[in-house]
Amino acid sequence: MNKLPIGIFGGTFDPIHLGHIHLATTIYKSCNLQKILLIPCYQSPLRTPPIASAQDRFNMVQLAIKNLPHLDVDNYEIKHHTISYTNDTLEYLRQKNPSTPLALIMGIDAFNKFDEWHKWQRILELAHLIIANRPNHWQTTNEKIIKILAERQVFTPKQLQEKPAGLIYCIDINPLPIAATEIRTLIKQQKDASLLLAKDVWQYINDNKLYTNQ
Ligand code: ATP
Repeated sequence: MNKLPIGIFGGTFDPIHLGHIHLATTIYKSCNLQKILLIPCYQSPLRTPPIASAQDRFNMVQLAIKNLPHLDVDNYEIKHHTISYTNDTLEYLRQKNPSTPLALIMGIDAFNKFDEWHKWQRILELAHLIIANRPNHWQTTNEKIIKILAERQVFTPKQLQEKPAGLIYCIDINPLPIAATEIRTLIKQQKDASLLLAKDVWQYINDNKLYTNQ
């Protein structure tokens, strides 16, 4: 087996911002992936419901990546109109790609709670993890997470090509200090957030008056 992995980047994307695009593009290049699939969730099991509708969040992802051929979007989660469990999405992607390595991308903030995810053991049978650092989120002190990492960590991205799933690669990416929460707050306060988003996404938010009443 020596196929380039497909990256999978799930999120609420409420809205998608340049921090997400920078993360995905950096990981795509540094980890030698064949592409990255962005998968907006309908509703995350661990968070309060998104502000924008699933369709609006999907449309914004489409706009953000329209000139970025290494990034693609998948509507599997939003079309199901129910809580999105990553293990279900990965079962679907594994059926479509029986032997290709799949690599689930997440920030360290998400990984620190990975042991609370539904069927997390199954997730590791279906995909590798690529973990990126993020400003203001420290290394974990969660014993379970430390153990999961110790058993599965690899130190070069090339190793992700050798198996379809089960390994964890941590990448230091120099992330952009942008969060969707900050963008929603700026918009609610009628402040300019245009530099934090793709131009067309900012236009879409304004055209559809998103995030003005939260
Ligand atoms: P919110 O502020 O609403 O929590 P968010 O900006 O964290 O939103 P999500 O859609 O929840 O966006 O993020 C999806 C994934 O992207 C998560 O794994 C998160 O860690 C990661 N991520 C979000 N923003 C950044 C960033 N600026 N740099 C690196 N990773 C990020």
